[in-house]
Order: sequence, then structure tokens, then C-alpha cells
Amino acid sequence: MSSYNLSPFTFHLYMDIIHLLPDSVANQIAAGEVIQRPASCLKELVENSLDAGAKRIQVIVRDAGRTLLQVIDDGFGMSEMDARLAFERHATSKIREAQDLFSLRTMGFRGEALASICAVSQVEMTTRRAEDETGTLLEIHGSDVIRQEPCVCPVGTNIKVSNLFFNVPVRRKFLKTDQTELRNLLTEFYHIVLVYPKVSFTFVHNDEILLELPAGTEKQRIEAVFGNPKKNVYTSAFVEVRTETEMVSIRGFVVKPENATRKAEQYFFVNGRYMRHPYFLKAVLTAYSGMLANDYQPSFFLYFDINPESIDVNIHPTKTEIKFADEQTIFQILMAAVREALGKFAIPTAIDFDAPPIDIPLPSHQPVSTPQVSVDPTYNPFQKRNVIYPDKAPRNWDMLYKGAQTASLTEHRLQTDLQEASILSAEDVETCPLWQYNGRYILLPSAQGLVLINQHRAHVAILHAQFMEQLANTQGAMQQLLFPEVLSLPQDEMVLMAQLVEDLRAIGFDIEQLSPDSYSIQAVPAQIANQSAIPLLQHILQQVKERDADTQFAWREQIAQTLADSAAIPYGKTLSEEEMRDIVKRLVRLPHYRRTPEGKTIVSLLSDDEISKRF
Ligand code: ADP
Ligand code: MG
Repeated sequence: MSSYNLSPFTFHLYMDIIHLLPDSVANQIAAGEVIQRPASCLKELVENSLDAGAKRIQVIVRDAGRTLLQVIDDGFGMSEMDARLAFERHATSKIREAQDLFSLRTMGFRGEALASICAVSQVEMTTRRAEDETGTLLEIHGSDVIRQEPCVCPVGTNIKVSNLFFNVPVRRKFLKTDQTELRNLLTEFYHIVLVYPKVSFTFVHNDEILLELPAGTEKQRIEAVFGNPKKNVYTSAFVEVRTETEMVSIRGFVVKPENATRKAEQYFFVNGRYMRHPYFLKAVLTAYSGMLANDYQPSFFLYFDINPESIDVNIHPTKTEIKFADEQTIFQILMAAVREALGKFAIPTAIDFDAPPIDIPLPSHQPVSTPQVSVDPTYNPFQKRNVIYPDKAPRNWDMLYKGAQTASLTEHRLQTDLQEASILSAEDVETCPLWQYNGRYILLPSAQGLVLINQHRAHVAILHAQFMEQLANTQGAMQQLLFPEVLSLPQDEMVLMAQLVEDLRAIGFDIEQLSPDSYSIQAVPAQIANQSAIPLLQHILQQVKERDADTQFAWREQIAQTLADSAAIPYGKTLSEEEMRDIVKRLVRLPHYRRTPEGKTIVSLLSDDEISKRF
């Protein structure tokens, strides 16, 4: 009998190292994949409500979702048994066989969202089906069922997720500022509400209603989310796109070229899901080519309907990229559809980029401490550069420059040369001769060869440094506006604006919140006086958003960058020798003068070697 003590069983106890993870641990690991932040949790909950046929969905959030994320729906609800099962891993009512994956029409299907959420938070849910008299209350903390009991509740499901990541301190720490997380929540929310216009939604954050979206048409929904609620004109800036082919149907709205902005809302949806698709984005941009001013972006909301068998949404639970079976063909269809829609609005044919530049715009500002640069006070680079009447607003010169840039074959070599030697000394630039070439470059001799300086970029770098300094010292000079301007913003950008407002004031904007969705601007930084503040501020917001700038330094960088770009002398501006010298002198005083903060080349050297080889 004693040999039983050495039985294989005992042996195994000591030797086996592979074992099944307890469900709670497996769920916590999986949760890291599915639920990365409050926004991903919100997405899963709202998608479940939609899958349950809800017509009205309320989202209630506290502290950007850290403390509370609650979703209340009027959908089918769950039976007592299903309520419990819903939180098990791979429990789903939506697919039964692997094959079903290919004909997916519901949002969720993996059955892992609720299991993941309850592994990393404290969940309380009440739910009831129409046919049941009593509902079910279920409370789960970190995958442990605390209680399950019958309860009185309306038909539908009310799920409260509290203290997300309470048991995963690392994740909790990893969360960004409340503003950023709230913005992520809103972004995720937009992706959903834009495809379900017939469902009414509300979004409440810390007891404040941020969005109230009644059921309506797609157009009304877009208007309700992005338009100015008081003006109701947003969607009149758009034209409708509609195309039906055997492969795909595409409908939606694209902005009229004259209404393009620097800050664009660009949305693709496929079969009721938001998707990112850089390749299709290119198709849209191609359709607009020649119609948009430099830097301007088209906003669009495009909805694709396609046989689910020809797409693969199953790449990753949190990814928004979707693969299509025949992307080239869809590219063509999409481009043609957008072109046709724009064509209906009598857009003239593309302008001739080979034509010589005409009537180059002059700067409107008086750059700080370069009073020598003469200015045209009427020029406003932010005024819509109208391509329909190119004589009014020329802009083709910068396309010409693009060609010139790529043509510079030796640029790379020149750059490496530059890394080694300091080519400009402060003394040299005091006295050396200076020439301007092509309205773009300042040329000067140095010990190593001929130095070429990009005049616009040089000035951008100088102003950037100046603005950064002013931001740090809160010393921006203000210029009062004759007519205060009002900037209306969608909720996600109101949140962003709240982050930036202190710095904007430091640099010289006199800006106050006017209403829950607008700011008033009374004054602008002196360097950009005479420019409309609104496009500038919108551009700053867009940059911060796009780059996911999440530190004060990063915000300041964006503010300084945008203001420097808009205030710097443009290409085509003829400079006097004095002006050139002033720019060069100030440039060489910068710690890094060879490249702009964005990394673009400012200074290039054509070495003596290089020159003599040519002869
Ligand atoms: P999936 O959505 O991938 O099926 P989830 O973990 O998100 O997986 O949900 C599991 C199941 O719980 C769903 O299949 C559904 O049957 C049920 N469920 C979840 N949320 C709701 C809801 N709001 N209303 C009704 N049923 C729900
Ligand atoms: Mg789901």
C-alpha cells in the first residue's frame, strides 16, 4: 500500500508544470487584449446593447470611465441563466460554429468582452426580458460572483462597470489623463453613433450631458455630433455620394472642396462598423486632387455595404483595420463615386500645376524683432485659398516645390556632410555676401562651400523657438480683435481645448469658454494679428488630436508649430539683404538650426568638392 505514496498521482503533483490557468487568471490576461482602456470597455458594452436591438442607449461616465462606466439599454435583456452565462469566457449567443464567423452581421461575436470586463472591474448588472416578470441582478468583482438574485427592473439591460482595473494596478497607472481618456471615450462613441442614427443615445460625464442624440437620419446624426447645434448648417457643406455595384455599395457625404478645413472629420464604415483604411483614404484624396488648398483636408462620412464574406473583420478584437478581398477594384469604385459627387457641384477641372506661380501672397504679420521684413497687412494665409478662382488665391507654387524637392538627388549626401561640420559661424554671417534664389532660398558662401538656406523653414524654426520661450514664460504679446470670434467645437474637442487653454492664454490668446460647446476669442498673439484665429485654433486642436499629444510639452510644441508655420515668411517673398542677414543671424543662434523641429532640412551645403566635380 505504501507504494501508493509514490503513485503517478503524487509524482505528478511535483513534476507537472503545465496546468490549466484558473479562469479568473485567463480572463485577466485576455482582458488586457480586449479591454485596454475605458474606451474599449464602453465600445463593447454599447455594441452589446445594439446587438440586443436597443432603440435607446444611455451612457453614464464618471472620471473618464475610471470610476464608472454605465450603459443602460432597452434591448432584449437576458434570462436568469443567460445573465450568468454571459460572463463566462466564449459565451455568446451570436455564433455557434466557426463558419458563422464569415457571415457576421452582429458587432460582437467572440463572447469574450463581458468575461474580460468582469475580470478587471466590479460589475453590477440588472437585466430583464419582456416575457419575464422579474429581472436578474448580478454582481461580479474580479470574476467572482458576489451575488445573483431576482430583482425588479425595466426590460433591457443596465450594466455598471466600476473601478476599472482595480485589480490591475499596472493598467490603471498606464491610463492617460482624464481628458485624454474622455476624448478616447467620445471618439469610440462617435464611431458607433454615426452608424446607428435610428437609435437614440445620450452621453453623460460627471453629471453633465455632453451629447444628446435623438433618433433620426444619418445626416441629422452627423449634424448632431459635429454641427453647431445652434446653426444647423454643418451638413450643407457636404455633397451626397451614392454608388451601387455588384461588389460594394457606397453611400455617404463628402465635403464640398470650398468647405474643406485644416481639421477634417474622416470616417469610413463598413457593414455598420467604423474602419480605418489608409488605402481607401488615398482613393478619396485622389478624387479631390487639385481641388484643395495646401494643408486642407476633406471631411467625409462614407458607409460601405459589402457581402460579409468578402471582408475579414477578425484580424484583432480591438483593431479597426479591415481587409477586403479586392481592394484595388473598390479603390477605383470609391474614387469614381467621390469624383462624380464632387463633379455634380460644378467643380472646375484641376488647375495647371505647371503654370508659373502668380501673385505670391505676402505675410500679414510683423515677425517679432524683425521689423525689417516689410509686410502686407491685408494678406491672410488662412483665408480660403480658392482654387475655383485661382487668380484670387494662388497656391500652385508649393506644388512646384514638391517636384524640386524630390529632384534633389544629392540631398542625402549633403545632409551627412552637414552632420560632421558646423558650416556657419556667427562671425561669418555678419559680413558675408548673401543672395536670394528663386524666392525660396538664401545662398551664402562658407568655408566648406555654398550654403543654401530654405527661407521659410528658417523663419519657422526661429519663430518656433520664440513661441516656445514665450509659452514657458507666459509672456506672449496680445493683439485685441475688433470683432471677437466664436469657436464652436464638438464635445471631444471641448475636452481638448480645456487642456490647452492655459497655454493658449500664455502665448497671447484671450480666450474664454462661452457655452458648453464654444469659446470666444477676444485677442490673438501679436505675431499673428490680422489672421483669423479660428482656423489656427482648429489646426492646433487637430494636430494635438492626431499626434495624441498627451503632455504639456507636446501641446506647446503643437501650438508653437502652428503659429510659427502661419507667421513665417512665405516662399516667393523677395527679401532684402538686410532681411536675409537678420534671418540668417537669428537662425545660427538656435541650438539646432539645420532642421526644423519637425525634422525638415533648413540648411544644405553644396560642398567645394561637389562644385569642382561639375567642371
Ligand atoms: P459577444 O457580444 O461577443 O457575444 P459578450 O461577452 O460581449 O460577447 O456578451 C456575451 C453575451 O451576453 C452576448 O452574446 C449576449 O447574449 C449577452 N449580452 C451581453 N450584453 C447584453 C445586453 N446589453 N443585452 C442583452 N444581452 C446581452
Ligand atoms: Mg459583445
